[in-house]
Amino acid sequence: MTEPCRAPKLVVPVIDRNRCEGKEDCVRVCPHDVFRMAALTERDKAALSFIGRLKARVHGGRQAFLVDVDACHACGLCVTSCPERAIRLERVE
Ligand code: SF4
Repeated sequence: MTEPCRAPKLVVPVIDRNRCEGKEDCVRVCPHDVFRMAALTERDKAALSFIGRLKARVHGGRQAFLVDVDACHACGLCVTSCPERAIRLERVE
């Protein structure tokens, strides 16, 4: 884990589970180790759409997960690196 970002948190990364294909680009590009690959739980799988379940099965049931969202510095690298457009930065209310 890296230092938490000390700036006011305006946005946080959000992963669209129905889009993620576990290609790990976000894990590689994030300078603050916000992501980690892990296996989808049965609960995760149950929440997927039909297409999402098919994709998950084809890609080995592994996806990116947020493991240290407080370390996010809102650089946007994960958003632009994801070939599936599965990550967005969402405004914190
Ligand atoms: S916006 Fe930057 S710091 Fe935040 S999760 Fe994405 S790559 Fe990491």
